[in-house]
Amino acid sequence: MTTQDSIKKILVVGGGSAGWMAALLIAHSVKDKGIQVSVIESETVGVIGVGEGSTPVMKRFFDTLEIHETEWMPECNATYKSGIAFDGWSSKPGHASYFHPFVTMVDNLTMPPFIENVKARLQGADVCALPNKFFLSAQLADSCLAPIADHNFPFFTTYGYHFDAMLLGKFLRKKALQTGIEHIKAHIDHARLDEKGNIAAVSLADGSELAADFFVDCSGFSALLIDKALKTPFVSYADNLLNDSAIAMPTDICDKIPTLTVSTAMKHGWAWKIPLQNRYGNGYVYSSAFTTADQAETELREKIGMLDSDTPARHLKMKLGRVEKHWNKNCLAVGLSQGFLEPLEATALYLTQMTAAIFCLFLEKGDLSEQAQQVYNQEINDYFDGHRNYIIAHYKTNTRTDTEYWKANAANLHRIPDSLKHIFSTWLEGRDLGDEIRRQNIEKYYPIASWYALLAGMGIFPDAEKKTTAGEQHQQYPLGDFIQRCALNFQDHRSFLAKQKPAM
Ligand SMILES: Cc1cc2nc3c(=O)[nH]c(=O)nc-3n(C[C@H](O)[C@H](O)[C@H](O)COP(=O)(O)OP(=O)(O)OC[C@H]3O[C@@H](n4cnc5c(N)ncnc54)[C@H](O)[C@@H]3O)c2cc1C
Repeated sequence: MTTQDSIKKILVVGGGSAGWMAALLIAHSVKDKGIQVSVIESETVGVIGVGEGSTPVMKRFFDTLEIHETEWMPECNATYKSGIAFDGWSSKPGHASYFHPFVTMVDNLTMPPFIENVKARLQGADVCALPNKFFLSAQLADSCLAPIADHNFPFFTTYGYHFDAMLLGKFLRKKALQTGIEHIKAHIDHARLDEKGNIAAVSLADGSELAADFFVDCSGFSALLIDKALKTPFVSYADNLLNDSAIAMPTDICDKIPTLTVSTAMKHGWAWKIPLQNRYGNGYVYSSAFTTADQAETELREKIGMLDSDTPARHLKMKLGRVEKHWNKNCLAVGLSQGFLEPLEATALYLTQMTAAIFCLFLEKGDLSEQAQQVYNQEINDYFDGHRNYIIAHYKTNTRTDTEYWKANAANLHRIPDSLKHIFSTWLEGRDLGDEIRRQNIEKYYPIASWYALLAGMGIFPDAEKKTTAGEQHQQYPLGDFIQRCALNFQDHRSFLAKQKPAM
């Protein structure tokens, strides 16, 4: 397959968030080119129905499709997200909680003092180097303020979203149908390959077949096409990332709606708390090698005050890793079928979006050659591995010693990726981390501020006893007043959401 002209029909297999996102992006990219995009989904296999936090890049998805927040957010009970609080990941004094901010324009002013303090702290000075004190996003999150400023505030603010995963799927399906994407409800039994090993058609449960020129596998963890049909090799991340299970359950939302995800370290993993307009989504991501599903559920219920509640908990299994080729033959895998890191940092829909959007660039150029596939697969693999490394860093730098789980994560006896080793050594030797991140060209996965926030937030500094008086040169919270004044330009989150009305 060398040109776009050979494609007249694209069949997206799966109607979860990934399937509808991919279908919408692809249909948008080939509109007016006479290509039919169809989505097939089983009525017997449901969607995974979790995945309720995003990164800021999701805004680009809606912007591309010209879908305004006032249209989709109310329908999905969506809220704004300024970043993630990590509670209890570090046992270092003063680091019980730190904030990973979504870096925003005003941080051009606040990052330099943060980095200056971090550098001083690395040299043993007794100064504040907790990211929470230096980023506007942290202040907005703390005060439950919507991260969209009044018109007179001259800085653009970056934010992500929280949303009800089931409602998002329904909304995207509605938009897809409006744009002419065909929706087929049928269960696929297997895929049939042609003599060149391409997918010729999918065979349905009733014995009929659906043929297409190109297939997009969005069938979730079952990976019907990329794995079961094409047997694409899978690169497991399980050596470095120990969690393989999750439990999800809702609780009531409070009056004030926070603009952050809270990620709290638990005995054998971590718990998420995601505020929506009508409820909190809670979950516990854990390793089944260290605890049982029952014990984990009890631990989560205790944490969220649901021990005596009969609200059922959903138990899920996760397969961490990625396929070697996301684009293999005439098939593109998008979403859980292509791989999954784990929910920490909420990267899955971001990777879904990038996988589909970057593929669209090739589609638009009409270049579906072998060479294009190789370039594409390398790029998507780098995205996955780059994000994986940042996630591993959370576990590797934890200083908890209360359970074997946390000790195993800190020891991480298996091979730590070289990229991460260089980051750790650069940091601990007090060299410029920004230079190292630029040298590795990994800023596109996580910006420099994110690495500083993680390592400083976890308190990866020389021991307290070694602190020197160099700290006298640095004010403790030099930016508090400035950031608080900036925050005056933002409105209460709940009130802001209440004013969102669908555009007429
Ligand atoms: C515990 C957990 C927490 C997560 N948290 C986040 C988060 O905070 N942020 C984030 O971005 N992501 C998160 N994710 C990932 C997120 O849930 C997924 O990326 C997202 O929901 C997309 O899933 P999907 O569409 O790939 O698969 P699914 O939702 O599983 O959809 C699969 C589709 O394939 C169809 N299908 C399957 N088999 C057949 C068949 N035989 N015939 C026809 N159709 C078939 C199904 O009907 C369904 O429509 C989380 C995942 C887990 C497990």
